[in-house]
Amino acid sequence: MTEEAFDVLVVGSCMTDLVSQAPRLPKAGETIHGHKFFIGFGGKGANQCVQAARLGAKTAMVCKVGKDFFGDSYIQNFKDNGVHTDFVGQTSEAATGAASIIVNDAGENAIVIVAGANMLLNNEDLQKTLPSLIHAKVLVCQLEISPKTSLQALQMARESKVKTVFNPAPAIPDLDPEFYRVSDVFCCNESEAELLTGFSVASVEEAHRAAQELLRRGCGSVIITLGPQGCVVLEAQGSASKHIPTTAVTAVDTTGAGDSFIGALAFYMAYHPTIPLEEMARRANKVSGVSVQAVGTQTSFPFKKDLPPELF
Ligand code: ADP
Repeated sequence: MTEEAFDVLVVGSCMTDLVSQAPRLPKAGETIHGHKFFIGFGGKGANQCVQAARLGAKTAMVCKVGKDFFGDSYIQNFKDNGVHTDFVGQTSEAATGAASIIVNDAGENAIVIVAGANMLLNNEDLQKTLPSLIHAKVLVCQLEISPKTSLQALQMARESKVKTVFNPAPAIPDLDPEFYRVSDVFCCNESEAELLTGFSVASVEEAHRAAQELLRRGCGSVIITLGPQGCVVLEAQGSASKHIPTTAVTAVDTTGAGDSFIGALAFYMAYHPTIPLEEMARRANKVSGVSVQAVGTQTSFPFKKDLPPELF
């Protein structure tokens, strides 16, 4: 059992993206030639962890991959990004999570996700992290692994007085209400806020209303990200939510923008815990705004050296 202290622990998913670009999407039973193939590292948990590490956070990933080529490559990817892999388990019972993605020339896609080993991350794996978890500053969870495991991780962090960030993505309509109560920061995007609240979230005004509803359910504070419009932040019952605008840029590829935002938020919560949440959100806007200006998911996430010093 490792007892090394990590500042940011992410309990979540790893997915290998297998991307084929083709003139069009094939029909059932059809084989067509594509023009380009590449492999990318994805999965919301891993993305958020890598972004926090690139900003300089001492991070560890808690996840499960297969005992296969993609699992080995993913572990190497974590090491290349300075993410500690002490809690990355490998199983022979399922393959590493994979997303087979076909993109046509019009930019439309068809995607099959097989969560595989991600779904086998369990309470036993979490217990192994406990000696490190109690010294962590921030724990981050999403919903690409078993929701039961995510909830257990958040509860363990709460019991150890570790700050929790919960990203309810991909959103599920019947989210266990306990998730709200164990989230210090509940951070989602517009479509997730819509699904969870049943309200339309198509404007800043509507986002304020959805944030109030999410806060009412018991979380410590709420952030709803709004793409080029930045985000709204709501901190305490009875107060007004604030719009934190950002400098809108022409996006090249927005894949993973939300994960870049959350990884940055976790970094600020761990390393600048005394600055107001609104200021953390303003800085996270800047970090994720850089990520949308390059292609790919993790490949587009900035390093500390790429960002202005005032963000640190
Ligand atoms: P998701 O990737 O989950 O859909 P968003 O689209 O809300 O999340 O993007 C997350 C964050 O990325 C936003 O809050 C914002 O800070 C930044 N962002 C996204 N698109 C742009 C853009 N065109 N210009 C500037 N920042 C952007």
